[in-house]
Amino acid sequence: MEHQIPLDPDGRAAHDAHDGTQEVSVDLAYKRLAIVNVIYYGRPGDPNWVLVDAGLMQTAGAIRSAAAERFGEGNPPSAIVMTHGHFDHVGALEELAEAWNVPVYAHPLEHPFLNGTTSYPPPDPSVGGGLVARMSGLFPRSPVDVSRFLRPLPEDGSVPFMPGWQWVFTPGHTPGHVSLWRESDRTIVAGDAFITTTQESLYAVTVQKPAMHGPPMYFTPDWAGAAESVRKLAALEPEIVVTGHGQAMRGADMRQALHTLADDFERIAIPEQGRYVL
Ligand SMILES: [Zn+2]
Ligand SMILES: [Zn+2]
Repeated sequence: MEHQIPLDPDGRAAHDAHDGTQEVSVDLAYKRLAIVNVIYYGRPGDPNWVLVDAGLMQTAGAIRSAAAERFGEGNPPSAIVMTHGHFDHVGALEELAEAWNVPVYAHPLEHPFLNGTTSYPPPDPSVGGGLVARMSGLFPRSPVDVSRFLRPLPEDGSVPFMPGWQWVFTPGHTPGHVSLWRESDRTIVAGDAFITTTQESLYAVTVQKPAMHGPPMYFTPDWAGAAESVRKLAALEPEIVVTGHGQAMRGADMRQALHTLADDFERIAIPEQGRYVL
């Protein structure tokens, strides 16, 4: 049985650009591409900007046109930063890295999934009960290969080209998953460490019903790590969260929901049975 915490729609952070890009603060925006978000760091028109995650296959064009809209034509990013290498976050990565010729930063433990070496473990279609979970057996999981562009995130915790940001190691959903944190306005870019929609259900994914939710169940092999990562992020007391799936949220209700998820993770987020539950 699945528990979620619906949130007041007023808790959402967003301001809609006409191409569907949602701005959450002056220098942070995200665009939803079907089932997943890509994140744009940088003020509009800024020559230095960073793409966080790279969406689904076939979305390179949409990612680039939203980038051109925000930062201007012919203005490639300084880098691409990856929260993790799942297919729905790397779909356009090879194409974009080639086209822009920019470094791709990821945690060293995520590199095998980004340099063509290692496939992720198979997804678990039995959890979550929804159509997306059942279809997850069909999701691609073979690694992309961007070795030419791949760099480790700096050991000092900084994020290249994103001054004021730190990466936070949040494994569990994948071995080298990271989230990004900026203390000055208490913003977390969470990747899939937690998400704000019920990704297992096609209905919730389509209507983007706001909820605070653990990482996508069908793709999370290490639940103990995932729980610890959510607790680490909740302890930061964020004001704004931007996740890989679902809408950005802000404020006290979001924080409360995140703490509830962290405090009661085993009951709320972990499937009762499934391939990766011990
Ligand atoms: Zn993922
Ligand atoms: Zn994802």
